[in-house]
Amino acid sequence: METRHKSARITPPSDALVTALKTELRDRLEAIKERNLYRQLRTIQSEQGSWIEIDAKQVLNLCSNNYLGLASHPKLKEAAAQAAYTYGCGSGASRLICGTMALHETLEHHIAKFKGVEAALVYNSGYAANLGIIPSLVSNGDIVFSDELNHASLIDGCRLSRAKVSVFPHKDIDALEKQLQQATNHDNKSRRLIVIDTVFSMDGDIAPLPEIVELAKKYDAMLMVDEAHATGALGPGGKGAVAHFGLDGQVPIVMGTFSKAFGGFGAYVAGSQVLRDYLINTSRSLIFTTALPPTVLGSAIAAVKILQEQPSLVTTLQENAQYLRQGLQKIGFDTGPSQTQIIPVILGDAARTLRMSELLLRHRVLATAIRPPSVPEGTSRIRVSVTAAHTHHDLDFALLAFEKAGRTLGIVG
Ligand code: PMP
Repeated sequence: METRHKSARITPPSDALVTALKTELRDRLEAIKERNLYRQLRTIQSEQGSWIEIDAKQVLNLCSNNYLGLASHPKLKEAAAQAAYTYGCGSGASRLICGTMALHETLEHHIAKFKGVEAALVYNSGYAANLGIIPSLVSNGDIVFSDELNHASLIDGCRLSRAKVSVFPHKDIDALEKQLQQATNHDNKSRRLIVIDTVFSMDGDIAPLPEIVELAKKYDAMLMVDEAHATGALGPGGKGAVAHFGLDGQVPIVMGTFSKAFGGFGAYVAGSQVLRDYLINTSRSLIFTTALPPTVLGSAIAAVKILQEQPSLVTTLQENAQYLRQGLQKIGFDTGPSQTQIIPVILGDAARTLRMSELLLRHRVLATAIRPPSVPEGTSRIRVSVTAAHTHHDLDFALLAFEKAGRTLGIVG
């Protein structure tokens, strides 16, 4: 009895593990805060749109990827509701078990037609697509060539593949060619894959696709592009960067999302029928996850149809982007290499960028600070993104807020 009692007293309290972890994580968060890299969630109380409600105030939304303003379009809402009434709210299983519903195939058919390819395959998100496609194509002993500013999902897909990753300087075609040459000389048997964003998510510049296609051909490499920010925003009818450069049919693996210009959720890969069949058989992020639910598919189908019926939305988006970019430059801001609806206002220092974002919100403009690790050290920025739904009045409102905030911080004169 005596011994048992003693050992009970020296047993750590039942919540010791929880307490130890809390202490450890608090310390780690403190370190993040000291570097001005602490992140917090912000709650939006309204639906997505040009103006949204935050803390009971209407603010101008200048940071969403809802590029065509479709996220709250009545036709998307209606299609989602209709899909729920007809097919219910869950898909019940993964695609290969019994989760492939008629709506998955309808959406795949629509997106293949829109992209002008043989076949398409829907993934649950852009992140899942990139994590699933790359490791299906390359593995141990192979080599992936990846632009240094590629999106995190491509980077993670490369890591997960266990192939050697050869990162080339941003859009540096000569460097890419050297790397391809070296790899070919060294080992002609390993598989080669080039992966690249077509519109870069933090700088809004466009990849030099024609040159990359040539290199892929010359060095017998597979080529995969991520059209997340180009779909609905670039090229004839918003078909993307591949079409923008007139390269239809020349890029074998084209990935894109329904989460940005299409205003919803999910992603796709567009290419050949054999690519679709192969991914269905090998892509783990497709095989081992529950299929997208009917509501999401219904609204995505509606979004693809709207874009095809109203290609003028893309022109409006591009005009708005040009108007805002030029306005910001006129005030004296550095908008980096932006050529699209993504317009970075590069400030460099993380603390200053945070302060700028706070000041903008005070002037009722929501534009988030993007800091490392999302962007390279020393290039913190306000990532502005414009939509087709913004009016010129909205954009002038934004420019005035930027001017006032920039003056307060002594960034512009
Ligand atoms: N690729 C790029 C270039 C992206 O910017 C993003 C998301 N911001 C993704 C993929 C991931 O897409 P999703 O949000 O649908 O997971």
